[in-house]
Amino acid sequence: MQFDDDADLDTSEVKDVRSSRVPGGRATVGGGIIGLIALVLGVLFGVGPDQLGLSGGGEEPVASSSSAAQVNQSCRKGSDANTREDCRIVAVVNSVQDFWRSEYARRGGTYGSAATVMFSQRVPTACGSATSAVGPFYCPGDRQVYLDLGFFDELRTKFGSSGGPFAQAYVVAHEYGHHIQNLMGTLSRAQDGRTGANSNAVRVELQADCYAGVWARHATTTPDDRTGRPVLTRLTDEDIRDGLDAAAAVGDDRIQERFQGRVTPENWTHGSAAQRQQWFYEGYRTGDMARCNTFR
Ligand SMILES: [Zn+2]
Repeated sequence: MQFDDDADLDTSEVKDVRSSRVPGGRATVGGGIIGLIALVLGVLFGVGPDQLGLSGGGEEPVASSSSAAQVNQSCRKGSDANTREDCRIVAVVNSVQDFWRSEYARRGGTYGSAATVMFSQRVPTACGSATSAVGPFYCPGDRQVYLDLGFFDELRTKFGSSGGPFAQAYVVAHEYGHHIQNLMGTLSRAQDGRTGANSNAVRVELQADCYAGVWARHATTTPDDRTGRPVLTRLTDEDIRDGLDAAAAVGDDRIQERFQGRVTPENWTHGSAAQRQQWFYEGYRTGDMARCNTFR
């Protein structure tokens, strides 16, 4: 995965509210079974944390204003994205939104952009106060993606993904898939309270995986508005394998096996490892969002 060294990163698409005064490093995530359940429920969930019953009940956010604008200062060029993880996320957000902007324009519509909020520990959102334990998510109420970079370590250590830069890109692109669903009015289908392999919740999640694949297909050919050149210049087969591996690692069956020791499809909210891989790959193979009809 390679970014154009000379690309100008648009840091206005990322709000950096990571705390610079966290004693002893990151917050403990998933402490005890409650945390574990929260983590499992929340991972890559398309709905704000409020619906998961994880609202912090009015606690103050830990985010410190003193650290604001970190990525503003550090992430200016594609070369920064090739060397720093947070700048890579900025570049991925730019690339994903470049694609959806152009796709909407091609279809005669206008894309409404969504910022990504990089936080640590806890963050206030229109969907309630969220902690890192819920994993990355999209909040339809404020149309923002929320991400604690610490999740990417857990993707490897807790979920057994191979990791790799594109695994991170897949996660970001998946969350923007939920934004597309929000714009199209399909996201609310997930909120009927049902779970299970054929539930609307699973179908919405698989569609977001498919949309992530659609972006990946076009990522290296979609020019940035301002420079006329793609931000992302190279995606290899190994990158795509990292994406597929991450999609499998967060499959409901894998997570259930790992954390509860048995698979209960009736509780699925995101789809199996095989389904998630299949739909990411369908989007990638066809590059056509019309092929992402997981409600068929
Ligand atoms: Zn999701």
